[in-house]
Amino acid sequence: MARVVVVGGGFGGVASAARLAKLGHQVTLFEAAPELGGAMRPEAAEGFTWDGGPDHFLVPAVVRDLFRKSGRPLEKELEIDLEPLPVIREHRFRDRTVVRLPSGRADQIATFEELGAGLGQKWADYTDELGELWTVMRQHYFESPWRPDDLPRELRDIIDRRESLYKKLRRTFKDDRLATVAGHPLVAGGHDLRNAPAWAGVLAYLEQCFGAWRVPGGMAHLRDLLAERLATREVDVVLDTAVSDVVVRGGRAVAVSTPTGEVPADAVVCAVDPRRLPALARFVERTMPAMPPVIAYLGLEGEVPLIEHETVIQGNPLIVIRPGGTAPEGMTAWTVHGRGKISEDCCACWRAPRWTCAIRSWLAWTRLRSTWCASGAAPPRACCGRAAAPRANDSGRPPRSRACTPSVRTRRRGRAWPTWACRPRSWPRSSDQPDALNCRRRSPSPRSPPT
Ligand SMILES: Cc1cc2nc3c(=O)[nH]c(=O)nc-3n(C[C@H](O)[C@H](O)[C@H](O)COP(=O)(O)OP(=O)(O)OC[C@H]3O[C@@H](n4cnc5c(N)ncnc54)[C@H](O)[C@@H]3O)c2cc1C
Repeated sequence: MARVVVVGGGFGGVASAARLAKLGHQVTLFEAAPELGGAMRPEAAEGFTWDGGPDHFLVPAVVRDLFRKSGRPLEKELEIDLEPLPVIREHRFRDRTVVRLPSGRADQIATFEELGAGLGQKWADYTDELGELWTVMRQHYFESPWRPDDLPRELRDIIDRRESLYKKLRRTFKDDRLATVAGHPLVAGGHDLRNAPAWAGVLAYLEQCFGAWRVPGGMAHLRDLLAERLATREVDVVLDTAVSDVVVRGGRAVAVSTPTGEVPADAVVCAVDPRRLPALARFVERTMPAMPPVIAYLGLEGEVPLIEHETVIQGNPLIVIRPGGTAPEGMTAWTVHGRGKISEDCCACWRAPRWTCAIRSWLAWTRLRSTWCASGAAPPRACCGRAAAPRANDSGRPPRSRACTPSVRTRRRGRAWPTWACRPRSWPRSSDQPDALNCRRRSPSPRSPPT
């Protein structure tokens, strides 16, 4: 039995801790925040709740396996099973075409065939190639310990290919819409396709093969079940405690540094961004961190169109609307992710021409009550998350006062920015974001019929 320290209490850390404890190790988990969950932590305000980050996942076997191998199966914990989503997401393009992406090869072929003759087969050829790649990667990469000196040749051939996903998609698809759909999971995850390897496109195959799944009750429910599992397995969970480094002696991790001193360990699991721990940072200095989106948690009052569980308005800015969450009677909770030409300030988002144009044209398109779109201002009532208290901005200067609805705020995961916060220095310029794979810019005609 080893003493194992797990750093980070997000899905990765909690899953590792539960599995290691079941194997008989003595596990201590450190979490910097006052509660477990990381990106899965929900948001709540004024009777609304929103999934803070993820609201669905792709390979249900991973979650089922975790529960089965660390105690009771998930179906018994949830009392009902995971919910498959009939449509993974809906893409809306500037040319007003719509792709409702289902799972399953045959259904995807039919969907793309509707978009244009021959496109279904093009898509199938692309995903079939990814299926072969997945077989190799699953066996030798995702389900095997990483031994860089002893990689099978077929895996090395895949990893050593220098082609970026951007190039691969440009080469494979003449139709920008297919390239955009194929690259979307990566773009939405905060990656620049020019920096992502071609094999990362395998996500499109996973979507086709396994579909998208939701936890009844939201990801917060899953987080709570996992927290209970840690208690059952007697994992020592230390909240509100950030690990500042891994102590390495003789080439081995022997402890972690915490504000109360060193905690000895036979093994350390790092389930946080390694850039945060100086001993590990040098191993990832040549990698690019994924950029989280600007997030707005909206509580909406009035008539709202029924939309798919994820609706993507392609363009720049790229806007993803997730209508999950719970709301008081007669109201609706939406989460909106924005990327590209967008401000971190949610109030400004509603007023900024590009964001507003995209949302407004989409709203108009879905026959939303015209009062909602009036004058580019916020809908009649939009409350997002908790009201953020005034605080000094990044430069240490006191916040500028600004006329905006105080209950509206935007946030990047792990850090909340009040609406008056300054633009962070690390935020990429909008020109750094690919414009949905150069999707042709065609402004929507105001007279086009609504769908
Ligand atoms: C807005 C958004 C939407 C997403 N949507 C989806 C989706 O729909 N489907 C999907 O599959 N994935 C989605 N993802 C990705 C998914 O949420 C993440 O991949 C996953 O939750 C990451 O889990 P993690 O444990 O690696 O990290 P995190 O969830 O980030 O957890 C890390 C934890 O470590 C803690 N921590 C950090 N530093 C320290 C330290 N020094 N000491 C101690 N603790 C520390 C943090 O407080 C945090 O709780 C989304 C992500 C975001 C941001």
